[in-house]
Amino acid sequence: MSAGLPDIDPALLQKRIDELALITEAAPPVVTRVLFSDAVLHARDYVHKLCLEAGLKVRIDAVGNMFARWTGSAPDEPAVATGSHIDAIPNAGKYDGVVGVLGGLTAIEALQEADFRPMRSIELVVFTAEEPTRFGIGCLGSRMLAGAIPLEKVRALRDPEGRSLDELRARAGLDGPLESVALPKNHYASFAELHIEQGPLLEQENLPIGIVQSIAGPSAYRVRIQGEGGHAGAVLMPGRHDASLAASELALAVEKAARESGSPDTVATTGKWEIFPNAINSVPFEAWLEIDLRDTTMETRDRALMLMREASHEIAARRGVTIEWKEINADPPADGDPRTMKIVEDVALRLDLATRRMVSRAYHDSLFMARVCPTTMIFIPCRKGYSHRPEEFSDPAHIAAGARVLAGTLARLSHEPL
Ligand SMILES: [Zn+2]
Repeated sequence: MSAGLPDIDPALLQKRIDELALITEAAPPVVTRVLFSDAVLHARDYVHKLCLEAGLKVRIDAVGNMFARWTGSAPDEPAVATGSHIDAIPNAGKYDGVVGVLGGLTAIEALQEADFRPMRSIELVVFTAEEPTRFGIGCLGSRMLAGAIPLEKVRALRDPEGRSLDELRARAGLDGPLESVALPKNHYASFAELHIEQGPLLEQENLPIGIVQSIAGPSAYRVRIQGEGGHAGAVLMPGRHDASLAASELALAVEKAARESGSPDTVATTGKWEIFPNAINSVPFEAWLEIDLRDTTMETRDRALMLMREASHEIAARRGVTIEWKEINADPPADGDPRTMKIVEDVALRLDLATRRMVSRAYHDSLFMARVCPTTMIFIPCRKGYSHRPEEFSDPAHIAAGARVLAGTLARLSHEPL
């Protein structure tokens, strides 16, 4: 214990991260843990066992979110929560999400060892399916906890093999009504998530701690462009309605709209293309695009979307094609809670750790926890900003520093009046 804050053993935390990384559907060092795969269920068992060893009270809800509670002296007060996810997209690394789960648990244990007595209970949450891999929707667990998705939409989800959530969760031994997942009002007093930055800024600026002041709101659209096909030799240029060229113009308009939204935080990407018939000697008659648009304010995101839609109308009219847009998802951005951010800053200062405020451009379970209670995130550097790939790396000293800041933050949040 120093600076009145508990120590974290970097070696123990790293050992756990390494052990969890061996529970994967792919050959290590690749980590792949898709929702309801054996790997993700075994990984949850691994964390479950550690939580029980730490004397925490564990509950698993109907969709597989796991809650491990250290009961405080005022058990009826809203608890203070931390946590993240242990699922991983195919071909991922071992730190995304895991640092927040094992770092959160290790922070709780460090507080226990330092004889800290929580007033509000402190709870570790392991969220189901932060990654959208199986059902194409991210943050399924936290989204349902926040009541941010209608249950009809949840029931209609199908994986690529056509299986429903109910079918898969039954196989994973989860029952109970999906209605029981959403958290009641005032369930939590606050939430703080420890996470690797997944970007390069902290490393570039040689800073150990980032405090997330806003999480960009993601949105995604599927666009179908129908033109007219024909023989690549026989159809002369003036008579063409080439779906692929309309798609190309639209992708450039998407880029332009993001640049002209009025905010440097607007980002838009046309990352998925399908062209039909996709043959060298045939004029493309149909194209499908998927567009990802994110921003830290709804105002500029809406403006960018409006510019894209205007361009889309103009391109369709000029090229004689039809363009249909379908929204895949559109979640509002979230702001970090000022009081919680200030507490993180104070704790880091006491530990002599420099901080900066930052924007999370990737989304996280915190995006939805911010709808449940005051929320912030604690970022730590990761090498070159690499993430979602096996080369993902974070220094054990940085991970331990992050867990220490988290421990101090949870301790403060547990005792401070709301
Ligand atoms: Zn993550």
